[in-house]
Amino acid sequence: MSEAKGTLSVVGIGPGADGHTTPEALHAISEADLVVGYTTYVKLVRHLIEGKEVIRTGMTEEIGRARAAIDRARAGARVALISSGDAGVYGMAGLVFQVLREIGWKRGESPELRIIPGITALNSCASLVGAPLVHDFCAISLSDLLTPWEVIARRIEAAACADFVIGLYNPASGRRTRQIVEAQAIIRRHRDGTTPVALVKSAYRKLQSVVLTDLDRFLDYEIGMLTTVLVGSSNTFVFEGYMVTPRGYTNKYTLEGEVLPGQRPGRSLVVAGAIAGPETD
Ligand code: SAH
Repeated sequence: MSEAKGTLSVVGIGPGADGHTTPEALHAISEADLVVGYTTYVKLVRHLIEGKEVIRTGMTEEIGRARAAIDRARAGARVALISSGDAGVYGMAGLVFQVLREIGWKRGESPELRIIPGITALNSCASLVGAPLVHDFCAISLSDLLTPWEVIARRIEAAACADFVIGLYNPASGRRTRQIVEAQAIIRRHRDGTTPVALVKSAYRKLQSVVLTDLDRFLDYEIGMLTTVLVGSSNTFVFEGYMVTPRGYTNKYTLEGEVLPGQRPGRSLVVAGAIAGPETD
């Protein structure tokens, strides 16, 4: 290993390109000597990496990608390992730590690690349909390549039963089509068929598509690898083509900010010039 200390930036590039990539992520990519990533994501940032060395690999070669990035950074290179969305949400960040642990890396040694956050699919997809995640929500990946289906099914059941808004990542692929059908059946046992469901495909990319439908009908539409499925809670409603989950305080306050009978007002800091009323964040 060389003396020079390298850096490994684990970069979430957000849903598509540029406008929704943070300046910090763009900076890490532009200052890198080497960019490593799945071919599709490398393509999304190709205008930033002209003249740079690039290692692009297929979806199933994730361990090889993480190892290559770590080896080169350890030896002194500035490496950007890119993931779509946020690298820490079903992305490469976990694998990086697994490999680092395996090779006995210690904090302070080369490479220096930087984890750069990105807008995850749940956020980008939610923004395209309205405000579905304003109350408690959870994310579940339907990919059973690395997690046994019984574990996934138990989590869907628990989330459905506890009335979370549910964001389903990896809902289906060409070969994997059964999971989303089973997920629908599990959730349907706990929620009305009219519960709003949004299907967002390729958010903020060229082939973006958004479908707003409901729990009984969403399987009639195309769902693939680039789709995120958002299933509303029992409070979620549709308004002017938007999917909205209220924060919950309409049960406590009128929209004019008055306290409803039987409710105690929440305390809020009064700042000169601030709008009086319920806390909004
Ligand atoms: N690290 C990524 C998630 C990778 S798992 C993130 O934080 O977003 C891959 C799954 O993410 C896809 O199957 C899809 O469900 C979701 N996804 C990623 N990018 C998306 C996009 N632009 N539009 C819709 N869904 C997306």
